[in-house]
Amino acid sequence: MKTSTSGHSDILVVGGGVIGLACAYYLARAGQTVRIIEQEHMGAGASHGNCGLIFVSDLPPLCAPGAIGHELIRTLKGTSPLYIQPRSDLGLALWLLRFAANCTRRHLNHAIKARDAILRVSGELFSDLFADEDLPCDFEQRGVLMAFTDPATMRGYQKTNRLLEPFGLAATFHDRASIRQIEPALNDGVCGGWHHRADSHLRPEMLMSAWTRAARDKGVHIDEGCRLEGFDTRKGGVSGARTSIGHFTADQFVLAAGAWTPAIARQLGVRVPVQPGKGYSITMDRPAVCPTIPCYLVERNTVVTPWRSGYRLGGTMEFSGFDNRLNERRLRNLETSAALYLKTPLGRRVTEQWTSLRPMSVDDLPIIDRVPQWGNLFIATGHGMLGLSTATGTGRLVTDMILGRRPPFDPRPFSIGRFG
Ligand SMILES: Cc1cc2nc3c(=O)[nH]c(=O)nc-3n(C[C@H](O)[C@H](O)[C@H](O)COP(=O)(O)OP(=O)(O)OC[C@H]3O[C@@H](n4cnc5c(N)ncnc54)[C@H](O)[C@@H]3O)c2cc1C
Repeated sequence: MKTSTSGHSDILVVGGGVIGLACAYYLARAGQTVRIIEQEHMGAGASHGNCGLIFVSDLPPLCAPGAIGHELIRTLKGTSPLYIQPRSDLGLALWLLRFAANCTRRHLNHAIKARDAILRVSGELFSDLFADEDLPCDFEQRGVLMAFTDPATMRGYQKTNRLLEPFGLAATFHDRASIRQIEPALNDGVCGGWHHRADSHLRPEMLMSAWTRAARDKGVHIDEGCRLEGFDTRKGGVSGARTSIGHFTADQFVLAAGAWTPAIARQLGVRVPVQPGKGYSITMDRPAVCPTIPCYLVERNTVVTPWRSGYRLGGTMEFSGFDNRLNERRLRNLETSAALYLKTPLGRRVTEQWTSLRPMSVDDLPIIDRVPQWGNLFIATGHGMLGLSTATGTGRLVTDMILGRRPPFDPRPFSIGRFG
C-alpha cells in the first residue's frame, strides 16, 4: 500500500462524491498514491441522501422519443415531478434544446446499449466489492417494483419492457391481485406493476462512510474542507491544484465534482454540458406496514426505498440552478405521492429532509474521458439519476484509462468528444 502525505500524489481527485470515491478506491487498489480533495465532507453532494437503488435495469435514457410531450401533459395536469424555474439562463436554455434534440429513436437505441454496458459491469463490480470489503450499508437484492395506479400507463410500460428483453432484464408482470402478494404494503389504488428482479438497493450514506474508510485503509489521503480554486497548467497538461488549504501537485488529475464540474472545467476552456437537476428525499423510521421491495411509483416518479435501518421517499427533478434550499411543497409532494400507492406511506419520525443536485448531461449518458486538450486531466461526471448505480464501473474505467489498461467496456459512448 502506498500513501501520500506530502503535497504530491500520483493522482489527485477533485470531489468526494460516490464517483470521486470510486475512482480513488480503484486507483489506490492498482497501487497509485491518491489524494481526494472535497470542499465540504465526503458525500456532501448528491451521493448522500439519494434513493440508493443499484438500478441495473434502468436502460432507457430520460431523453427518449415523446419524453417532452409526455412531460408537458403531466405539467398541465399538475402531476409532473419536473420543474423548470422560469429565469434567463442561456446555459440552461441551450442545455434544454440539446436535450430535446436527443429525444430520438436513434439516441434511445444507442444509449440503451451504452447504459447496459456500464450498468452491467458496475453491478458485477459491486458484487466483487462487497465480497472484498466489509461495507455495512443495508445492501439487499430484491429488485425494483414498478407500481402503477393507472391501467393505461401500466399497459404502456410493456413497450419499455420489450426494450429490455434483448439484455435479459425484462420485468415480470403482476396484476392487481398478484402484486399485493409480492408486496403487501401497496394499497388498493395500485392496479398492478412490473417487477425488475436484477436490481438491488443499499443505504447510500452508509455506503459512503464505509467505502471512505476502506479507501483510507488502501492509502487514499482525503482532505475534507478543501475547495479547489483553480488548476495550474503547463504546456498541454495540468501541473497543480490551488485549493483553499494549499497547493497540491500530481501526475494525473480526475475531475469528479458532480454538478459543479462544468464551472471548474470552464476555467480550463473545457465545456461540459451538464446542468444541476435538483432532487429531494425524506428519510423516516420504517412505517407500520413497510414495503420489502423498493417501489418506483411510476405516475409520480417517486421512489420508495426500505432498509433494515429506515425508509426513504425520493424524487423530483427541478432545474433551478445551484439553489440548494429545501422547498416544502416538493417535500410534501413526495408524501402525497406515496399516499396514493402505500397503505402506510409515512414513518412515525422524520430523520432527515434532504436536497441535492444531480449532474445531468444533455444525452443522459455519463462523461468519462481524458480531456484531449489537457493530456493528464480526466473527467468523470454527468451520471444523472444513475451515479450510484454506475460508480464502480466509472471508477474502474477511469483507473484503466489512466493506467493504459484495456477498459472493462467500450468507453466511446462516454467520450467528451461526442459533444463536438
Ligand atoms: C433525490 C435523488 C435520488 C437519487 N437516487 C439514485 C438512485 O437510486 N440510484 C442511483 O444510481 N443514483 C441516484 N441518484 C443520483 C446520484 O445521487 C448521483 O448521480 C451521484 O450521487 C453523483 O455523484 P457525484 O460523485 O458525481 O456527485 P456528488 O455526490 O454531488 O459529489 C460531487 C462532490 O464534489 C464536491 N465539489 C464540488 N466542487 C468542488 C470544489 N471546487 N472543490 C472540492 N470539491 C468540490 C462537492 O462538494 C461534492 O461532494 C439520485 C439523486 C437524487 C438527487
